[in-house]
Amino acid sequence: MNILLTGGQILTMAGEEAEVLSTDLGIVNDRIAFIGSPPSDFRADKTVDASDTLLMPGLINAHTHVSMSLLRSYADDLPFWDWLFGRIMPVEEKIESDDAYYGAQLSILEMIRSGTTTFADMYFFMDRVAQAVEESGIRANLSRGVTFMQGDKDLDKLTEAEEFYNNWNGKADGRIRVDIAPHAPYTCPPTYLKKCSELALKLNCNIHIHLSESRKEVEDSLSEHGQSPIAHVDGLGLFESRTYGAHCVHVSDKDIALMAAKGVTAVNNPTSNLKLANGFAPVKKLLDAGVNVALGTDGPGCNNNTNMFEEINLAGLINKGITEDPTVIPAYKALQMATVNGARALGLEDETGTLETGKKADLILIDLNKAHFIPRYNLVSSMVYAAQGSDVKTVICNGRILMEDYRVLTLDEQTILKNAAASASRMTAEEENS
Ligand SMILES: [Zn+2]
Repeated sequence: MNILLTGGQILTMAGEEAEVLSTDLGIVNDRIAFIGSPPSDFRADKTVDASDTLLMPGLINAHTHVSMSLLRSYADDLPFWDWLFGRIMPVEEKIESDDAYYGAQLSILEMIRSGTTTFADMYFFMDRVAQAVEESGIRANLSRGVTFMQGDKDLDKLTEAEEFYNNWNGKADGRIRVDIAPHAPYTCPPTYLKKCSELALKLNCNIHIHLSESRKEVEDSLSEHGQSPIAHVDGLGLFESRTYGAHCVHVSDKDIALMAAKGVTAVNNPTSNLKLANGFAPVKKLLDAGVNVALGTDGPGCNNNTNMFEEINLAGLINKGITEDPTVIPAYKALQMATVNGARALGLEDETGTLETGKKADLILIDLNKAHFIPRYNLVSSMVYAAQGSDVKTVICNGRILMEDYRVLTLDEQTILKNAAASASRMTAEEENS
């Protein structure tokens, strides 16, 4: 379908400096065909009046666990290790295939409503997450999160991860990519991590992993392996594939230099790190060293939403606070983390993350007709310090309109809310009774 968006302002995110253009944007099938006046031979099947809106690239949530929406607000205000091993993992045992599907639909609905067009997910029942992605029209890098805990006997989960790759990589019109996801160095022994490295190389896909999230993780790694988690996984060959590591909070200067040298992305998850009291990632140091820094919400169990505008806002603010320097992470840099840097993390930099001719048409329209967008001195600042996820009016992914004028077109919103609530009740009722 050919779509013409006319009368809006366009924040391309294409350069190192902000560029806002007052012009038209045309889409042919799944790609941006032009930014500017329509060529004389262009015929629009649909024209979208974009006046009083800002067009910008769809946001990229580079680390989440979408089905964990069913655990939203289930266990809050707890220390990280009690939260994960004491509360979350026991109830995760009760998640069944349909629950994972309804939970994924719930998060995808929330992400579309708040302007995310691409997300990176690691969890289980990933076939059902992929099904939800395919049906919704969103783009995703998906991976079967693998662990090898005491009592596990074989390599079942890795076999499942490879099967998932074979079944889903490149599917849904190319919107689904499959990566390999060892959950974390503390849930995967060294021999298992090595097997993950080999599998990623064999399949030529990315690695998605949690790295140096808590202080305890780093202390345990130093005493068990004599190395930081980052040096430890590098020694096991993980960084031979493109790797995006969630959190990277407790990283030394040596870790940062290693990440820069190996092209490892740090996915900053400010809300999750604050809520679980794990600290703050040294984002300025990482960026100064040349590390690509993307942004993620982490799972809704520890956030408690998938609204990327909150992460953008926090990334902009926290780093100023902790460095006592208001010039740190200017607004445009915070937006880059949620767009172009996210695309680079996932190996999608030639496809999405900016608005440029030839790239995939993944874009959102922000409704500027709101009190908090007046006056409009600087729209980049407004997107970081004033915008809400609920300001997203229209969402296009892969050239298809997923939400128009606040109406989600690809999902049955009320059915999703009902199914997800029913799944959550059943899972947690069983856990409370057991
Ligand atoms: Zn996570």
